[in-house]
Amino acid sequence: MNRWPVLLLLVFSLDSYVKEEIFLSGDLASVSVPSENVNGVIIKVKNDNKKIIPIPYLYEDKNIFIEAINTYIKAKYVNYGESRITIKNESLVNLSPKDSIRVQEEAKLIETVLASSDFSIMPSFEFIRPVAGQITSRYGKQRYINGQKRSVHLALDLDGEIGDKIIAPMKGKVVLVKDLFYTGNTVILDHGGNLFTSYAHMNEAIVSEGDFIIPGSIIGYVGSTGRVTGPHLHWTVYFENIRINPEQFLNENFLESLLQ
Ligand SMILES: [Zn+2]
Repeated sequence: MNRWPVLLLLVFSLDSYVKEEIFLSGDLASVSVPSENVNGVIIKVKNDNKKIIPIPYLYEDKNIFIEAINTYIKAKYVNYGESRITIKNESLVNLSPKDSIRVQEEAKLIETVLASSDFSIMPSFEFIRPVAGQITSRYGKQRYINGQKRSVHLALDLDGEIGDKIIAPMKGKVVLVKDLFYTGNTVILDHGGNLFTSYAHMNEAIVSEGDFIIPGSIIGYVGSTGRVTGPHLHWTVYFENIRINPEQFLNENFLESLLQ
């Protein structure tokens, strides 16, 4: 019996549920949804409702199912390269049982902070650069610390001297100010709609939990607290609990290309 017609039909029907546009690992993307009454952040563009979605860091090309449109989108792996650093203080690399517990507790705290966003604020996705310094380590790099393979760098490092100003890139609420094991003096801002940004290794934070921040206001100063090789800002952007690539927000026409 000839089985080809059945096989061809199957391939065709699978393809019809995959959106042709290709999205990149770590990017923010938008898809048109039929109504404004869809969960998440919806931006109205003329008569179109665009739902903003995060593409997670991917280890290989993947089709991601988007419930709001009942469709898979194609997301592509990006090779961001690797970074090798040396940390001389061995106790910061192979943790003592006490430090391991501290790190686990801090990870849980961050999870709790990121679990409840203020939906009375809505993010504009128009970012101001948080520090003037150049990029020193990009998002997505596979890290090796003292030759050991570690987690992928899911943040952006911006260069700075101790005391350089760090400014809020967008309006938001301060939801965490704390000295953490890895990231030192850390501030997390809630921009609403499940968009959060985090500022690590600060010399000093000058905001308090609960403060409302306007774009461009100073939240603290660059430092080298926590596990670092020198002063810089380690900037993380979380959207819907996914760490996305902060570098995209520094492009001048970011919002325009997101919503096209
Ligand atoms: Zn970093």
